[in-house]
Amino acid sequence: MTDVLAGPRSVPQERRLVTELPGPRSRELAARRAAAVSAAVGGTVPCYVERAEGAVVVDVDGNALIDLGAGIAVVNVGHAAPEVVAAVSDQVAAFSHTCFMVNPYEGYVAVCEELARITPGDHAKKSALFNSGAEAVENAVKIARHATGRSAVVVFDHAYHGRTNLTMALTAKNMPYKHGFGPFASDIYRVPMSYPYRDEPGISGAQAAARAIAVIEAQVGADEVAAVLIEPIQGEGGFVVPADGFLPAIADWCRQSGALFVADEIQTGFCRTGSWFACEAEGVVPDLITTAKGIAAGLPLSAVTGRAEIMDAVHTGGLGGTYGGNPVACAAALATIRTMREQDLAGAARAIEATMVPRLRALADRTGVIGDVRGRGAMLAVELVRPGTTEPDAELAGRIAKACHAQGVIVLTAGTFGNVLRFLPPLVIGQELLADALDVLDAAFAEQVAAR
Ligand SMILES: *Cc1c(COP(=O)(O)O)cnc(C)c1O
Repeated sequence: MTDVLAGPRSVPQERRLVTELPGPRSRELAARRAAAVSAAVGGTVPCYVERAEGAVVVDVDGNALIDLGAGIAVVNVGHAAPEVVAAVSDQVAAFSHTCFMVNPYEGYVAVCEELARITPGDHAKKSALFNSGAEAVENAVKIARHATGRSAVVVFDHAYHGRTNLTMALTAKNMPYKHGFGPFASDIYRVPMSYPYRDEPGISGAQAAARAIAVIEAQVGADEVAAVLIEPIQGEGGFVVPADGFLPAIADWCRQSGALFVADEIQTGFCRTGSWFACEAEGVVPDLITTAKGIAAGLPLSAVTGRAEIMDAVHTGGLGGTYGGNPVACAAALATIRTMREQDLAGAARAIEATMVPRLRALADRTGVIGDVRGRGAMLAVELVRPGTTEPDAELAGRIAKACHAQGVIVLTAGTFGNVLRFLPPLVIGQELLADALDVLDAAFAEQVAAR
């Protein structure tokens, strides 16, 4: 069991290209994929993975790529983190499934205990576990409606909460998430977000909150709102960081109105932004918090955690699912959380910010195509615009991402306008590897900006 821990790290933490990307074996797999996999499933990097460790992904042609995506903020502890590998291996050999509602097991309870410890607030908390982020969000809405006896759910411009029927309705962006998939769930209301780069200059967080609250009060009615659901830093929407004071003002309004403040920390959670959860930066304590992605280093697990009396308001049997809180995923989560504590990965995220932000700002100054550098911890982004304007330049973002991929650096795009390059490295990435990735990014900008 501990031999996995002691074993040598088998993937050198360096970028190494031995073929053009994608290589011949990846191209063969792409042909098989085209014949067998639905074209509706999107793709980003054309290289098929053979193994991955730390912040390096090795493809089937033997190329070693630097991962600045972490599987969309999932492997925060790094690929193949030794404690996680050991815990998962032990658990899968012991038992892999009983269904917690049939035969319970300690791992589920222990994950809920950890969530109570690490989520914001020192009130009594309880959790329920699920499989995916969307499922956690759906359940948070069910719980909020049941606990408040109200039905309206308020969400924000640029929000992303998932792709299931209810969460599609909560998600803002039509293409690709909603297009042609209606009709959507009802009683969902969208209000303006605080988006400092695109708001009128000088609008404060409190003013942006007042703007949203005015819409809620006029169009929904304060006493109809079950929940205000918000990502404290928006993920797919483009790493939009609301102005200081916005989140606390929204949370205060919820408290006064009897609505629940629900933080969707599925992308921001688990040390990603330099603390366990992004709400901590402004001392905001959500009534309910949804988590997934970084919770279990890639094993499918999600959770709703909240005030004990709210979480207990639902009748017994009202929440659950066959796989929710699967024992292997719980073992992974416990090892993930332990690793984050032992290695101070929140501190690692802050160190990544300290390295990356000056480099991204310098890139902005040099190229003139970056309108905004933003984010927190190891959740950072640049928003690309036509020089001298705020007009989104999605085409350039796409070309730069592709140029990075071709040089063995995995970067992702995001944003309502598709013009945001986002960076979500595993928190264990070394400084040398990160510097190499940023050199590749610099070169990709130079080449693609010159090409226009
Ligand atoms: C990814 C994400 C979801 C959906 O999670 P899935 O596991 O893909 O269903 C919901 N909310 C946020 C903020 C996310 O980033």
